[in-house]
Amino acid sequence: MNKHDQEYIKHKNKSMVLDVIRNRRPISRADIAKITGMSPTSVSRIVADLCQAGIVKETEQFSSGVGRKATLLDIDASSVLTVGIELDKTEIKIGVVDFDGRIAAEHTVSGANHDKAPQAVADTIAAKLLELVRDNGINRDKIIGVGIGIPGIIDVDSGTVVFSSQLGWKNVAFLKLVEERVGIPTTIDNDLNVKALGESIYGHVNESRKTVLIGIGSGVGSTLVIDGEIYRGETNIAGEIGHFNFDPNGMLCECGKRGCLQTYIAEYALIQEANNFKKVSRLSEIFHEWRAGEPWAISIIDRACTYIAVTVSNVVCMYNPDTIVLSGNFIEQHPHILEAVRAKLDDFIWEPFRGTFKLVLSKFAGKSVMIGAASLALNLRLDYELQTS
Ligand SMILES: [Zn+2]
Repeated sequence: MNKHDQEYIKHKNKSMVLDVIRNRRPISRADIAKITGMSPTSVSRIVADLCQAGIVKETEQFSSGVGRKATLLDIDASSVLTVGIELDKTEIKIGVVDFDGRIAAEHTVSGANHDKAPQAVADTIAAKLLELVRDNGINRDKIIGVGIGIPGIIDVDSGTVVFSSQLGWKNVAFLKLVEERVGIPTTIDNDLNVKALGESIYGHVNESRKTVLIGIGSGVGSTLVIDGEIYRGETNIAGEIGHFNFDPNGMLCECGKRGCLQTYIAEYALIQEANNFKKVSRLSEIFHEWRAGEPWAISIIDRACTYIAVTVSNVVCMYNPDTIVLSGNFIEQHPHILEAVRAKLDDFIWEPFRGTFKLVLSKFAGKSVMIGAASLALNLRLDYELQTS
């Protein structure tokens, strides 16, 4: 085995031990060895490193059944902090988040970001982050990374916003702009990607191994997370199901093609259709009419639920996930819709897939991009520290 392979295995073992402690804490060294199949000596050596790094701590507790004291290992959740940022057309949400995905402090800056110079947005982020840390007495040295979720196509490796129609940006090297201002290692990614990551780590379904998050809002998209890793595809745009073709002769989509999924269920499509019956400008107005029993509103919402159920069924056929998280304005602002989707799903789902997955709502709703971006930063930094420690 060459040196590179040895280093790789060492790193893999270390993150495996950390994952076991993270998911099953408090836990003894002996149990970690049993679960990972590693030797007690190797486990002890890795645990010593993790304790020294301040991430893992020893706690003395009675182990169940035996009644004698055993030293168990736990995560020190406040030992490291990361910052999660959601940046979209009208808001910047900044949160300081601990190891357990809990928000220690947060702040929202409202105001149009569309067509604003990226430098000015980075200035605002840096200034507000400094303020947040100072005002809440947070130890800045504990912050090991900053993660940012942005709607659009993101080149993760170079930290570039390739294209974001919400922000009106094209080829903006945003990571560098933020990193040089805040002085903390930074990472950026697509908003749905980080949202899916956060939901898969801290969401409703613990220890989900294959989570798909479907977002239905101004656009439609999805992200698959496998064992805590975002499946990106070749250019980080895997899961763009908004452009699944449902009818080559259907309505014109913003992509220039006809009959894409989002022309059936994206917010603008529903509003456009509603305007054939009544002048409305917001989704909530359609739901208002729906509650009042207006037949056209009932038919629009019913059809949207049908297409969401079809989409869930298609995604299940493609990935065979254990969990599907529904998110986005359509479902988060009207969670009762979940039952309608579930009922319809019964008609569409193919027999072998029945009972193989859970369909749940996003746990963190409006905060999920923030928490997810923080968890992406945490994962990347831990990976780095495990490699170098
Ligand atoms: Zn399209």
